[in-house]
Amino acid sequence: MTGADRQPTEGADVCVVGAGPAGGLVADRLAREGYDVVILEAGPRFDESDREQRMERSIRPAHGPNSVWGMGGPRDAYASTGDRHYPLNAARVKGVGGSTLHWQGMVMRLHEQDFELESATGVGADWPMSYDDLRPYYADAENELGVAGASDNPFAPPREQPHPLPAFPPSYSDSLFAEACEELGITTHSVPNARLSESRNERSACVGYGTCQPVCPSGAKYDATIHVARAEQQGARVVDRAPVQRLEHDDSGERVTAAVYATPDGTEHRQEAREFVLAAGGVENPRLLLLSESEQYPDGLANSSGLVGRYFMDHLFAGAGGTLDEPTRQNHVGFNTTESHQFYDRPDDSRGAIKLEFLNYAGPSPVEMALSGDDWGDAMLERIRDGYGTHVAMGALVEQPPRKENRVRLHPERTDDHGNPVPDVVWSLDEYTRRTIERANEIQREILEELGADIEWTVGPDATGPAFHHMGTTRMGNDPETSVVNPQLRTHDLQNLTIPSSSVFPTGGAMNPTLTIAALALKAADHVAERL
Ligand SMILES: Cc1cc2nc3c(=O)[nH]c(=O)nc-3n(C[C@H](O)[C@H](O)[C@H](O)COP(=O)(O)OP(=O)(O)OC[C@H]3O[C@@H](n4cnc5c(N)ncnc54)[C@H](O)[C@@H]3O)c2cc1C
Ligand code: SF4
Repeated sequence: MTGADRQPTEGADVCVVGAGPAGGLVADRLAREGYDVVILEAGPRFDESDREQRMERSIRPAHGPNSVWGMGGPRDAYASTGDRHYPLNAARVKGVGGSTLHWQGMVMRLHEQDFELESATGVGADWPMSYDDLRPYYADAENELGVAGASDNPFAPPREQPHPLPAFPPSYSDSLFAEACEELGITTHSVPNARLSESRNERSACVGYGTCQPVCPSGAKYDATIHVARAEQQGARVVDRAPVQRLEHDDSGERVTAAVYATPDGTEHRQEAREFVLAAGGVENPRLLLLSESEQYPDGLANSSGLVGRYFMDHLFAGAGGTLDEPTRQNHVGFNTTESHQFYDRPDDSRGAIKLEFLNYAGPSPVEMALSGDDWGDAMLERIRDGYGTHVAMGALVEQPPRKENRVRLHPERTDDHGNPVPDVVWSLDEYTRRTIERANEIQREILEELGADIEWTVGPDATGPAFHHMGTTRMGNDPETSVVNPQLRTHDLQNLTIPSSSVFPTGGAMNPTLTIAALALKAADHVAERL
C-alpha cells in the first residue's frame, strides 16, 4: 500500500503517530514481530532522488535551511512567548524520517550520572531507571543506526562491545587541537557518528559531501526513512500527510480507542488500534495530548499530574572561534570527529554538564564565499584565498536543568491550518545554565589561546541559542503525581498509550539525545509487544 491511500487500516494492532526515529524504530520492531502496524505521519513522504537537488539548494545563500524540507507554512505555525525566542521550525522537520532528515547525526550514550543527577548533585531529578537498565538497548540502538565509533573515550560509560563500524579518522584541525589540549591536560577522543564509515546493507559509505546538515545526498548519514521503509517491508502501513488532530478514549477513560486524523482532501478519519504509540516529537507530543481534552479529561489526556508540556528543556550552545596564521583545512567534512567529555560529569551543583566539540566547519566554505560575493574571476579567487582556510572554532553543548515554568502549552488565540491552537514554547535561561555556559567559554578560550588563535567571536549566555533537542515535556517517573509516563514509557493514566521520545527525559544531560531516544523506543517496543 502507498501513502496515497489514506483510509484507516482495519484491525490494526498498533497505531504509531509520527514517522521520525522513535516512531520508525517502534514500528519496525513490532512489524517484524508480526503485528499489524499503521503509522500516521503529519508531513509528506519526500522523494529520495531529490536529495542532490535539495543539497544544492541548501548551499545557496538565498535559501534558508528550513525551506529545504518545507518547514514554515501555516501547518507549522507556532508561538514563542518566553524570555528567550525559541526558533521551533529550525528545530524540526515534518515528513517521513522526521527531524533526522535534517540532523547532524552525533550519537552518544548518556553518562551514568545523568540517570541519578539529583542523588549525586541535588540538581534536577533522577531517572526511574539506571544506565544499566538502558545499556542493552543502547547497544541495540547503535547497531540499528549503524554507528561509527571507537572505544577511546575514557569518560564514556562502560560498554560491552565495540561500535558496529570503525570511527572516522580525526580531521586535520583536530590534530592541532589535540596538541593544545594535551598541553592543558585536556583529553580528546573520537565522536560516535550515525553515518556509515563503511558501506552497509547496500548503503554507501560517507563520501564527504560535507553538507550533512540539512541534507546528505548519498544517504550515508542515518535517517529514520531507513526504519520506516523496513517496517513497510514487514507489512506496516504508512499514511503520510495525515496529521493526528486528537486521540479519543473509551467511556472508562482508561484506554485510547482512536487517533482522529485529517487528510489533504479535507476529511477526517478514525484509526482504531489496540495500542497507541505517540512519537510526534518533544513539542507535538504534549500539544496533541493537550488538544485531546475531553469531558472526563478537561486538562488534556494523560495529564492527571498537570505536567503535560512542563519541564521543556533544550541544550544550549556555547562557542568561540577565530583564526590561526596557518592552514586549518576546514569544511572538508561536514561533521565533528573529535570532542571531549572531560567536563561532562559534575562534582556538585555548581554547574551543569558540558560537552566540548572541536568544529570542522569554522569560517565560510569556498562555495559559500563564491556564491555570496558580487565579484568574478581572479578577484573572486583572491577573495576566497584570503578568507578561507585559517579558521578554527569550538562548540559546546550545555545542560539545562528541568524547570516547571519552561513549557509547551496551547496558544490561546493562534491556530494552525486545521484550526487547532498552535504550540506556544515558553523558554528561559536560568542562572545555573548561564554559569555553565560561562565555564564552557572559559575552557574554550584557554584552548584557543594555547593554540595561538586570534579569537574573533564568542557565543556566551547572552547570544546563545538552542541545539534543537526538545526534551522533558511528558516526563518519566514512578510517581503518577510527578510524572506523565512510567519506566515502561506507558502513560500512568491510559493503559495503551506509550511515548518513546525525548519528551520523557526527566533531565537532559548535554549529549545529543537521539541515541537515547532510539534506545527508549526499542525498550518501549518490547513493553508494547508484551501487552499485545
Ligand atoms: C538541525 C538539527 C540537528 C540535529 N542534530 C542532532 C545530532 O547531531 N544528534 C542528535 O542526537 N540529535 C540531533 N537532532 C535532534 C534529532 O533530530 C531529534 O532528537 C530526533 O529526530 C527526535 O526524534 P523523534 O522521533 O522523537 O521526533 P521527530 O524526528 O521530530 O519526528 C516526529 C514526527 O512526528 C510527526 N508529527 C508531529 N505531529 C504529528 C501529528 N499530530 N500527527 C502525525 N504526525 C505528527 C512529525 O511530522 C515528524 O515526522 C538535531 C535536530 C536538528 C533539527
Ligand atoms: S559528509 Fe558524509 S554524511 Fe555528510 S553529507 Fe557527505 S556523504 Fe553525507
